[in-house]
Amino acid sequence: MPEKPPTISASRPDTEARGETFYQGPSGIHLASFPPKERWDDWTELDPRAWPERVGRRYMLVPTTCFNCESACGLLAYVDRETLEVRKLEGNPEHPGSRGRNCAKGPATANQIADPDRILHPLKRAGKRGENRWEPVTWDAALDDIAARIRKSIVEGRPNEVMYHVGRPGEDGYTERVLAAWGVDGHNSHTNICSSSARAGYQLWMGCDRPSPDHANADVILLISAHLEAGHYFNPHAQRVMEGKKAGAKLIVMDVRLSNTATHADLWLAPYPGSEAAILLAIANHLIRTRAYDRGFVRRWWNWKEYLDVVHPGEPATFERFEELLGGMYAAYTFAYAEKESGVAAADLEETARLVAGAGTRLSSHTWRSATTGNLYGWQVARCLFLLNALTGAVATEGGTFPNAWNKFVPKPIHVPPHPKSWNELTWPQEFPLSMNEMSILLPHLLAEGRGRLSVYFSRVYNPVWTNPDGFSWIEALTDEAKVGLHVALTPTWSETAAFADYILPTGLGSERHDLHSYETHDAQWLGFRQPVRRAALERLGRPVSDTRQANPGEVWEENEFWIELSWRVDPDGSLGIRKHFESRVRPGEKLTVDEYYGHIFERSVPGLPERAAAEGLTPLQFMRRYGAFELKRKVGRVHEESVPVAELDDAQTDARGRVFTRTPKPDALNLAPVPTPDPDAEGRRPVGVDVDGAVLRGFPTPSGRLEFFSRTLHDWGWPDAAVPAYMKSHIHPDNLAPGELPLIPTFRLPTQIHTRSANAKWLDEIAHTNPLWLHPRDAERLGVSTGDLVRVSTRIGHFVVKAWVTEGIRPGVVACSHHMGRWKTGGEGQRQAMATVELAQSGTAWSLKRVAGVAPYTSADPDTERIWWTDPGVHQNLTFPVQPDPLSGMHCWHQAVRLSKAGPEERDGDISVDTAKARAVYREWMAKARPAERHSPDGSRRPYWLMRPLKPGRDVYRLPKRTTSE
Ligand code: SF4
Repeated sequence: MPEKPPTISASRPDTEARGETFYQGPSGIHLASFPPKERWDDWTELDPRAWPERVGRRYMLVPTTCFNCESACGLLAYVDRETLEVRKLEGNPEHPGSRGRNCAKGPATANQIADPDRILHPLKRAGKRGENRWEPVTWDAALDDIAARIRKSIVEGRPNEVMYHVGRPGEDGYTERVLAAWGVDGHNSHTNICSSSARAGYQLWMGCDRPSPDHANADVILLISAHLEAGHYFNPHAQRVMEGKKAGAKLIVMDVRLSNTATHADLWLAPYPGSEAAILLAIANHLIRTRAYDRGFVRRWWNWKEYLDVVHPGEPATFERFEELLGGMYAAYTFAYAEKESGVAAADLEETARLVAGAGTRLSSHTWRSATTGNLYGWQVARCLFLLNALTGAVATEGGTFPNAWNKFVPKPIHVPPHPKSWNELTWPQEFPLSMNEMSILLPHLLAEGRGRLSVYFSRVYNPVWTNPDGFSWIEALTDEAKVGLHVALTPTWSETAAFADYILPTGLGSERHDLHSYETHDAQWLGFRQPVRRAALERLGRPVSDTRQANPGEVWEENEFWIELSWRVDPDGSLGIRKHFESRVRPGEKLTVDEYYGHIFERSVPGLPERAAAEGLTPLQFMRRYGAFELKRKVGRVHEESVPVAELDDAQTDARGRVFTRTPKPDALNLAPVPTPDPDAEGRRPVGVDVDGAVLRGFPTPSGRLEFFSRTLHDWGWPDAAVPAYMKSHIHPDNLAPGELPLIPTFRLPTQIHTRSANAKWLDEIAHTNPLWLHPRDAERLGVSTGDLVRVSTRIGHFVVKAWVTEGIRPGVVACSHHMGRWKTGGEGQRQAMATVELAQSGTAWSLKRVAGVAPYTSADPDTERIWWTDPGVHQNLTFPVQPDPLSGMHCWHQAVRLSKAGPEERDGDISVDTAKARAVYREWMAKARPAERHSPDGSRRPYWLMRPLKPGRDVYRLPKRTTSE
């Protein structure tokens, strides 16, 4: 008999615990709602559903991490001890990144768990692809079919016909190793609709593709993004931005919209989109002109010698001469020029420059998505922003901006399979040798051009039909079985793309799966552990679980176990050499379990964790299951200044640039800070340091070991005109617009929605469910529309119809529409809280989508679905955008040149019309901008080897194929 829940009296039983003013864990703050960790096994709390009765409920509090955006904040699941129901999720005070706080989307995981429309069992299509008719299938049958097809592709020498296309990874490298074990170069990502350009800008500077700003300790916080509501590492960064502000920091925000972030700014600049780099260079010019830059830092850490050697070989190779040249390079970027380009008053720009100059080494800056994502050459925005940090020396300083690798930790797993021996032209086409990540947006076009086919295509927590531009081209590709033999959608929710799958396999939400992650939320290193909370609760109760499906709702599975099982079925007897990477080490010949996988990592690869766990009488795995996170280090500091003990190396060699290399021993043995070391060079020597004024220091993971103001990579690979930070005009620069066109900004998020995954969260849908067009009153007047009127927005390949929202919160002459809404289904299955029912029609290359029904109340197990009051789920604008790949980073340049008109009497809200033949023509136009490896590679390789690549084939595979004479 379960114990009767205790009734709590007016005096709470945890009064004695209230003596703690501050929570003792990483949150270090006072929030009375954090239950002390000593009582997480049995915590009693009033049941709000029983109000007005005061009924207590007993919970086990089990940590996990949120899966609703990339920040991976800690969550604490309240698992009912009696029913094992997950009743709610709150913040985990033991998580060093989020420190007990969450945004609205974290607790809304509870909605997703209980969503009456969620997919609980594996499904197989019952009609044609896209008909959205389904029948149940067993996991076994689905696994056998998928495994047999993968095996056939591998055995028949077509490994690259297997593709895994990931949206939100939510983990650090697990699935990449699965693909490596299979020997397929089949990793595809969403990065080039998200962050390729920002990454390119940062990687070219410092060898790391993300910044890690120390907002909390900054004097000036400079953001080109809406970080307080939706930016990268949203909640962890937002709380630190506010901490910095509270301590007196000035917040400067560049955003064409009055975002929630801009409302908190001391200075809000609303520049013409694409002009941000001109402003940043005007600030740089001010710093250089007024000598307000850190000369010592620039002299020691910039690769200015390399710049002089290559670009000015006849000049004296002195720092003083470099300074003169530097001044000349940016002299034209006056405040007046920046005002002309941006439309922001020169006086405001000057004030911004003065603030930046006054910050010294306490300048934290960040750009992600936003201007980098919207514009052609957006990577130059990141290059120019980081230039300010590099000038002021605010790099890896308290209150400055760190390379992300300094503040991230990725442990070594139990098995490390070699990377594939082939190159996938569908994801890494030769036209884009410098792309950051895969050219995902081009896939339908590359398939249509016959550059390859797919025998098995996994879309995993990814919805390209809806999320990517040019969705109708995706539908054309996915419905053609000659191009895509089998489409498997691994997803926790219904999506527009899943509707075009052969199998829909239900995978777990944040509280139903294992993953590891570590993100650069501040100057520290931490490791977070996502886990299936009911599984962990059962285990605490002494009921071991061998397969996560035993603990999850329905037949929802976690992916770790899925990939192990699938890999065994691909190679049942081990003859392909795959199975060994998924075998137990302690029980040879048996399947690896998740307990062994994570137990091995926590015991052997996470410095300090075994000791910390032992201090509490726990194994490392038990510790991570109990607390969900481990902080390896606080205040990592200036790793690049770390001294390398070269005397311990037998074979240290220094090249002409001062780069120090070694072959043995492995740099790991030198006891250096646990940040990644660069890959070995072509001769097998690993860069281990850089000579700075006679001392060998760790340096940065760039080819030179220094901060690369001058990118030799860009210079040598066809971009000598862009090798230093520069302002390059966007495709939506006024010079490039036709009469009557204006820019549409489609890149901004809604704070309470995240792409596909949050449409099944009723609390979030109630808060935000539509996406009107932001329109300045002057533009509205010119157009003759008011708030609520319908506007037709025409792109180069079609148009959409949307409601106007007239607001002074946007710059005149620019319109904006959030990409977060406009979800749809063609009838039958789907997320009824946020999806319209639509009619799709095709005539040749002409497509249309019309709303048949909006959102409406419905009856389900959740009485709240009868209380749905919203009807308009917004418009799917991305369908009307052609692909616009940046020729360097590969980023889809999201901003659109559009024409506005009042909608006609026959037009309805949400109407879409597109011609995919026009989309193909625009694709070709943008492909012509590319600078292919074939013409620009300096060494006959496909791509600079040092640039990141999730799967990195051997150097021999990097060789460009020889062309036959007939080609
Ligand atoms: S910011 Fe919000 S959605 Fe993102 S991980 Fe944190 S709680 Fe979840």
